[in-house]
Amino acid sequence: MMTDNNCKVLFACSEITPLVKTGGLADVCASLPQALHRTGTEVRVVIPGYKTVLNQLDNVALVCTLDTPLGPVAIGKTELDNVELYLVCHPVFSNRPGNPYMSDDDRGWSDNPLRFALFSQAVTELALHKDYLNVETDIVHCHDWQTGLVPALLALHNPRPATVFTIHNLAYQGNIMFNLYDELGLPGALFHANGLEFWGQASYIKGGIAYADRVNTVSPTYAKEIQTEFYGNGMDGLLRSRSSRVSGILNGIDEEAWDPATDKHISANFSAKNPENKSANKRALQQKSGLPENADIPLFGVISRLANQKGIDILIDALEGETELRYQLTVLGSGETELQNRLYQLQEKHPQHVAVKIGFDETFSRLVEAGADVFLMPSRYEPCGLNQMYSLRYGTLPLVTPVGGLADTVINYSDNPETATGFIIDDATPEALRQGIDQCVGAFSNKSLWAQLQHNGMTTSFSWEKSALLYQQLYKTALGDAAIANEHIRNARFSAG
Ligand code: ADP
Repeated sequence: MMTDNNCKVLFACSEITPLVKTGGLADVCASLPQALHRTGTEVRVVIPGYKTVLNQLDNVALVCTLDTPLGPVAIGKTELDNVELYLVCHPVFSNRPGNPYMSDDDRGWSDNPLRFALFSQAVTELALHKDYLNVETDIVHCHDWQTGLVPALLALHNPRPATVFTIHNLAYQGNIMFNLYDELGLPGALFHANGLEFWGQASYIKGGIAYADRVNTVSPTYAKEIQTEFYGNGMDGLLRSRSSRVSGILNGIDEEAWDPATDKHISANFSAKNPENKSANKRALQQKSGLPENADIPLFGVISRLANQKGIDILIDALEGETELRYQLTVLGSGETELQNRLYQLQEKHPQHVAVKIGFDETFSRLVEAGADVFLMPSRYEPCGLNQMYSLRYGTLPLVTPVGGLADTVINYSDNPETATGFIIDDATPEALRQGIDQCVGAFSNKSLWAQLQHNGMTTSFSWEKSALLYQQLYKTALGDAAIANEHIRNARFSAG
């Protein structure tokens, strides 16, 4: 019997920390189920059984095999930090190493449409039939385009569980050519203007947006932004038409996993009460970056996907004109080759001031968080962003653009120097960024002011508890919506005889 808080949630996602991570989605899909679990919600997580994931697990039990329109899949089960983790196992996931979505040359796997149609079909089956998981699923909570088909496929069933779709990044849509549609076993009944059809293609993310009982995104500001043409990626009209069902819930962070007082990856532990050791991390970061060790020069850090969204080109443009730098910059990133090359050129021009490390390196990323004075995020848009919150916790002041979750999490120095936690520039342009950097360099020279700003950030909590309660409320609302939808369809069938 379901009580208010113990509804049973199937949480479907394409990455999860620490098993497979390309960005913030993985951290959220690891820590939100934990937080929901603590508040009494029963969550089961399901992800694809990628080769890299299976290689890290030695205790996967076979639960069942099930049929999908694209053939049979095996469902494995294990446990991750006390949460049941299910794996959709099929050669399209286990037959290749590396990144879950892309080959080494940074191109999407050509069979991604099939892989994530198959994953969504399997999740749909798991959610509909009690026998597979041995439990009646009340809610299916889907994340991003990789699972966007699930709410659409479930909408064809009655009764069905409630569906919640969370947009972590609207720009990645999983749009496929229509000629693939039938081959993928997708139902014709879903291909129309109010369904999956999107400018002649079929859009996986549109499935989530159009059919989920509730749609949310990962910060209140991004929830508003995506309903405008500028940030809407062609989905703004649909989102506006469903605006009464669209909301924003700010991501939290795992404050245990990201705690400078206990972090094993950094050179010296420190806290808001005892911040002195942060300077040892700055020395270590300068050393590891190959930059001169100097406590007095401000050290800016970047950890980022090298993609248009993140404004790395804006940063390069802002620095390119400079003949001499009054600060150091260390960049850790992976992604677009052109941005990598431009960063290397910047390093060549300013070897004493700029250091670039290309790759995905969790340990080094922790040292950047702990050792830098300022964390740079000149994003063009930012659904939530986790790094600015990790930075705040590590006494590293974020310098950010006024968008999405950045606007929702950083208190701007220009608005109130007493309570500020970072610096928000006017817009995502090289000029505004140059001004912001100058402002930081100026503030850094005032040691007591800087210490106050660091303290403000380090004592701000971004724990998941508050957001987990908001998700619980969202689940409750979605359950009500689904109950009404189920009843309407039942009645319609009844009156049709
Ligand atoms: P997004 O998900 O858009 O990439 P977020 O700020 O939400 O951005 O989350 C990014 C996450 O990925 C953070 O945990 C960040 O530290 C991590 N990350 C990004 N690039 C790298 C990298 N090159 N090496 C290590 N960690 C990285």
